[in-house]
Amino acid sequence: TQAILLASRPKGAPTADNFRFETHDLPALSPGQVLQKTRYVSVDPYMRGRMNEGKSYIPPFELNQPIAGGAVAEVVESQLASLPVGTLVTGNLPWQQYSVSDGKGLQPIADGQAPASYYLGLLGMPGLTAYFGLLDICQPQPGETVVVSGAAGAVGLLVGQIAKIKGARVVGTAGSDEKVAYLKELGFDEAINYKTANIPEALAVAAPNGVDCYFDNVGGPITDAVYDLLNNHARIALCGQISSYNEAEAPMGPRPEAKLLKTSTKLQGFIVSNYYQRWPEGVKQLTEWYQQGKLRAEETVTEGFDQIPAAFLGLFKGENTGKAIVKVA
Ligand code: NDP
Repeated sequence: TQAILLASRPKGAPTADNFRFETHDLPALSPGQVLQKTRYVSVDPYMRGRMNEGKSYIPPFELNQPIAGGAVAEVVESQLASLPVGTLVTGNLPWQQYSVSDGKGLQPIADGQAPASYYLGLLGMPGLTAYFGLLDICQPQPGETVVVSGAAGAVGLLVGQIAKIKGARVVGTAGSDEKVAYLKELGFDEAINYKTANIPEALAVAAPNGVDCYFDNVGGPITDAVYDLLNNHARIALCGQISSYNEAEAPMGPRPEAKLLKTSTKLQGFIVSNYYQRWPEGVKQLTEWYQQGKLRAEETVTEGFDQIPAAFLGLFKGENTGKAIVKVA
């Protein structure tokens, strides 16, 4: 069975050389253990942070050890009564074709509610990020203007759709004309290709009444421009800063504090695990909206275990629309 290890820590943008494939024998099971066959692997931007050394909200990956992240797996051998053979589970699993565990931290997937891979997107970590970040921090009101950066990604697509459910006017930014067209098809009122547009001008046109809520996935020049359009008592959910994840030095930019002060803006960074206690509430509501046809879950699925590093690297080149998933088996 194959595993993908962290071979070296990237300086700047990660490359395929930072990963190494290894072949291992399948271990024998002890009582209380299960053998899982990995079905789907989630590649996520936060994993870039774990490739660095140093303290963060989650420990770094260790050199020469398997990378681990969100995955869906099937129990194929079991010495644990609570997880019989055939159970589909989701959890944090190593990038391996097979893995052994004691079942702790694995969640069985509810039968037939949605495709299994959705538990890595719409009904998993990114879905809950969109749900709690938008509704708990931004609290959009009907008729307000919500801007979301990284709008065509896993989190952003859901943020925009949930903001529409709440009756807001929604503006998204994304990195290609195809993505912009897709956002409009999904019901976004305006969408901007940040790679070709004059960002401040395009945003001012798209948000003529100013910005009440900003869900920030990206940072950088898009965020600088949004800060110039904030209305009084605006709310900002600081979710991600992908534009700087590959920067070796902290990027310099305008100092926005005075703009936040003058508009009495509330800015809150958050990590989705803060909402762990409320996870079931979020999954229940997202499932309901999905089943009512109010939320669409888009995925970009790459096939093959050996393609996991490439799919991960693709996140930083905008190769995915919606959730980036690798179908392993
Ligand atoms: P996405 O599915 O959005 O994938 C990443 C996307 O980011 C790419 O498709 C690309 O789209 C865009 N991107 C890449 N590089 C840049 C750049 N330099 N400038 C602008 N856009 C760029 O990922 P997720 O939806 O999973 O995550 C979105 C953000 O939310 C990330 O910053 C992530 O770290 C954060 N996050 C935070 C969580 C939390 O708990 N706080 C939890 C989950 C995610 P494009 O074509 O538009 O450039």
